[in-house]
Amino acid sequence: MPTFTNHLPTAELQALDAAHHMHPFTTNADLAAKGVRVITRAKGVFLTDSDGNEILDAMAGLWCVNLGYGRPEMGQVAMRQMNELPYYNTFFQTTHLPGIALAKQLADLAPGSLNHVFFAGSGSEANDTNLRMVRVYWAQKGRPEKSHVISRMNAYHGSSVGSGSLGGMTPMHEQGGLPIPGIHHIGQPDWWAEGGDQTPEEFGLARAQELEAKILELGAEKVAAFIGEPVQGAGGVIVPPATYWPEIQRICKKYDVLLIADEVICGFGRTGNWFGSETMGITPDIMTIAKGLSSGYAPIGGSIVSDEIAEVIGACEFNHGYTYSGHPVCAAVALENLRIMQEEDLLSHIRDVAIPALKTALDGLGDHPLVGGVNISGLMASIQLTPHKESRAKFAAEGGAVGYICREHCFANNLVMRHVGDRMIISPPLVITPEEIDIFAKRAKQALDATYADLKEKEMLKAAS
Ligand SMILES: *Cc1c(COP(=O)(O)O)cnc(C)c1O
Repeated sequence: MPTFTNHLPTAELQALDAAHHMHPFTTNADLAAKGVRVITRAKGVFLTDSDGNEILDAMAGLWCVNLGYGRPEMGQVAMRQMNELPYYNTFFQTTHLPGIALAKQLADLAPGSLNHVFFAGSGSEANDTNLRMVRVYWAQKGRPEKSHVISRMNAYHGSSVGSGSLGGMTPMHEQGGLPIPGIHHIGQPDWWAEGGDQTPEEFGLARAQELEAKILELGAEKVAAFIGEPVQGAGGVIVPPATYWPEIQRICKKYDVLLIADEVICGFGRTGNWFGSETMGITPDIMTIAKGLSSGYAPIGGSIVSDEIAEVIGACEFNHGYTYSGHPVCAAVALENLRIMQEEDLLSHIRDVAIPALKTALDGLGDHPLVGGVNISGLMASIQLTPHKESRAKFAAEGGAVGYICREHCFANNLVMRHVGDRMIISPPLVITPEEIDIFAKRAKQALDATYADLKEKEMLKAAS
C-alpha cells in the first residue's frame, strides 16, 4: 500500500505543489515564491508539518474538525462502509442504510418541526439547494414571483455561483459575474466596525430593520427568503447584538418570508448548543449544515427543512440533486461523529469546561495594547486589533495588513490563527482541553507581542485619520 509517511524533503514537495496544485482563495504565484507549508499528520488539536513542527490548530481546519484529528473510530466506520456499500444513489426509488439513519438522527437533533433532510456534498451545494427550494416552494403555492432572496454584506454562504451570490463577499462578487439576479444584500450586524455612536442594542435593531426596509422596497410579494449565519464566521466571527435575531425573526414572520439559518459553522456544538439558532433564540424554516456534521472527516452537507416545506416540495418533482447526495460512506462517518459527540457528552465539555477556559484566556489577552476587544460565542471568537482601543480606530495601513502580519507571527509560533481584515479569529476543535487552551494563550500572546514590536519598527501603529 502506498504511504505518505516517508516523504520527499520539504523543498521538493513545495516545488511539486507549486508546479501542479492550484490553491483556493490564494494568489498562487505569491504562494509558489514563498513556499507552502506541508501538513503531514495530525492528532487531537495538533498538526505536524513536513519539518516536524507541532502546530496548534486553533481553526479546526476550516472550522470543521470539531472532534479533533486522528479519531480511529471514524476511519474504522469509513472502511466498514466502503466494504459493505461504497456507493449507491438516492435518485431512483432507492435509498441505503446510512442515509436513512443519518436523516432520522438529524431530524431528532434539529429543533421544532425541522424533520426532513436534503443531502449535499458541501455547504455550497446545500445553499444552492436552498436557493432553488425556496423558489420552488413559493411557485408550488401559486406565487412564483415570490423569488427574491435577501442576505447580508460580508456573509459567507459558499463559493459556487449560487452560494457565492448569496454570500456578500465583495472580492468574490468582483470575479466571474456574481451575484446572479434576484439576490439582495443588507448591512451586517458588525457593531465594532460599523456601529458608530450607537449602543450595540440600538445598532442591532437598526441593522435588523434594514431587512424590513428592503422587503418593503422590493415588495413582500416578491421576497422568498432571508438567509443569515447565526454568527458570521468567515466574515470575522461577528457576534450580533442580542437585539438582532429576534427582530429578524419578527420581520420574516410578518412578511411571510422564509428564514434560512446557515448553520455550516454554528451547527453541531460550536456556539454551545446543537445549533446556533438555539443560541440566538430563533426558529428557522431551513438550516444549512456541513463542516462539523462530519467533523470534516468526509465531505457532506445538507438542508434540514420544516414539515411544511417538505410537504409542499414533496408534492412535485424537485428537479435537483447531486451524485453524492447522502453518500453512504460520508453519511456513516457523519453518524459516527454524532454518536461520539453524544457518547462523550461533548456539549457538556464545551459549556462547562472549554468555553469558560477560552473566556479566561481571551480576557487575559484583552489587556494587550493591540487588542481592541474580543467577540466570543461559544467556541468561536475574534480578537479585534486596533491602534487605539477607546475610539475603536482602524490602522492607517490598508485593512488586513496588520492582521496578516499577526497571522505570520502566529505561524512562526506554531499556532494557526486566521485573520479576517485586522481581526484574528479562532474556532478550535470542540474537544480542546484547558491545558491546550493555555498553550493557545501563550502562543497567541507571543505572536501579539511580536506583532506589536514589528509594527513599532515599521511605524505602522498609526491610526487611520
Ligand atoms: C464554509 C461555509 C459554507 C460553504 O461550505 P463548503 O463546504 O465550503 O461548500 C457555507 N456557509 C458557511 C456559513 C460556511 O462557513
